[in-house]
Amino acid sequence: MRSFRRPRLIQADVKPAARPSAAPRAQAKEGRRGRSPVRGDVVAGAAAHRGDLPSAVDRGVIDTAVADGTLSLCPEATRVIDRITRSGFTAYLCGGCVRDLLLGGRPKDFDIVTSATPRQVKRLFRNSRIIGRRFRLVHVTFPDKVLEVSTFRSALEPTDAKDLLIHQDNTFGTPAEDAFRRDFTVNGLFYDLAEHRVIDFVGGLRDLNRRTIETIGDPWVRFREDPVRMLRAIKFASRLNFMLADDVYEALIDCRTELRKAAPPRLLEEILRLMNLGGARDAARLLIRTGMMEDLCPEVHEVLDAWARRGDRGAWDAWWNLLAAFDAAVTAGEPVSNARLFSVFFAPLFEREIEEGPPRGMSLDIEDGLSPIAARLRMARKDTYRVRQMFHAQKRFASKPGTRRRFSPSMTARDWFEDAWFLFRLRAEAEGGALRDDATWWAEALESDEMERRDHPGRDDA
Ligand code: ATP
Ligand code: MG
Repeated sequence: MRSFRRPRLIQADVKPAARPSAAPRAQAKEGRRGRSPVRGDVVAGAAAHRGDLPSAVDRGVIDTAVADGTLSLCPEATRVIDRITRSGFTAYLCGGCVRDLLLGGRPKDFDIVTSATPRQVKRLFRNSRIIGRRFRLVHVTFPDKVLEVSTFRSALEPTDAKDLLIHQDNTFGTPAEDAFRRDFTVNGLFYDLAEHRVIDFVGGLRDLNRRTIETIGDPWVRFREDPVRMLRAIKFASRLNFMLADDVYEALIDCRTELRKAAPPRLLEEILRLMNLGGARDAARLLIRTGMMEDLCPEVHEVLDAWARRGDRGAWDAWWNLLAAFDAAVTAGEPVSNARLFSVFFAPLFEREIEEGPPRGMSLDIEDGLSPIAARLRMARKDTYRVRQMFHAQKRFASKPGTRRRFSPSMTARDWFEDAWFLFRLRAEAEGGALRDDATWWAEALESDEMERRDHPGRDDA
């Protein structure tokens, strides 16, 4: 019997579900009854996926013109596949790029899978190197991009072991075996460039049509093999505006404590990816609803729990709005640095800091809040330093009219300033009111400082 422990859910997360992924269970049920998937608002930041699925999905064939048009964005992928196949091996596009091509979007990157072993691939490309230990694969480098070429992986040996975590995975197999090793059905598709056809061993086309995230195989097993997949499930649901299948949602709840077994750098990478394509608010919502936030980031969970217990609607709204403003900024094409992502994700920790601000120097709130997380997730020192500076600067932006302190030119020239200003603009957007007036005032002040500097270079009024 599967144990089914309900996580402590934070009740303050009661905003009406705005999009399908926010109410995955109900939505999944609808999908299962065979109704056509609900198309809610397209998730902010997933503009690439806007629009109906091309009818080609039904036929299992990517529209050649669309595919070729998009592929022309990455002629290197075509060249790499060409050279591998001319040497007698099989090579397909795989993973996220096939999914995104089928959704009518522009893939972020193009991954390739082949029957050639990493050594054989390496021999074909001078501009390549073998990387990874757990999964060995080849990076083929070009002036402005790196293509990942992996070798078809074989099926895992069946195991009775309690610990399903995969530690080593370098035996090679067939395309079908490889497809079944992938995480979600929509990520398990291959695209054969020569034949212009999609190869679907796992039901990925069906789930693209149903706009549903299904694991390939039993989600309880797949999440225990590699707990990072749980974050990936949330990432794809929120980024693509897909539903989580019922069993995936339940397994996330059941397996959430496994997250602690994942390697910190991988967790950190997935937290950043959860946030960086316009689905941050929905990702946060799903992390909370599944109880995963408690395991991923107990410090944030604790603050959210405290808000919920004291019924602090204002604090919740402020964070949700901040996440939404961040998603909108990302969608509008604002640059996102790690520090920007972290400052928004960890904003609940610095509630008091933002409200009251430190009298002088760096406050203990920031140190106490960030240090344990930074240590656990192995955040880069430069990122945590930047986040501290960003929060520290907030008080300077928000001040009573007439008492606003200017940043000296030497401060505005510092590399953290742009990020601090970005965070303030988001907060102003999220909270409105006096903060928005402050932001308008600052935007004008910074603009006139900039003009002054342009007109009188060399003058420093610090
Ligand atoms: P993105 O658009 O974020 O790059 P992606 O689907 O391409 O999404 P990648 O992390 O680039 O994701 O991985 C490429 C492919 O490798 C995935 O589509 C999936 O098929 C497979 N994959 C990646 N991570 C895992 C994992 N943890 N377990 C199983 N398969 C995985
Ligand atoms: Mg990818």
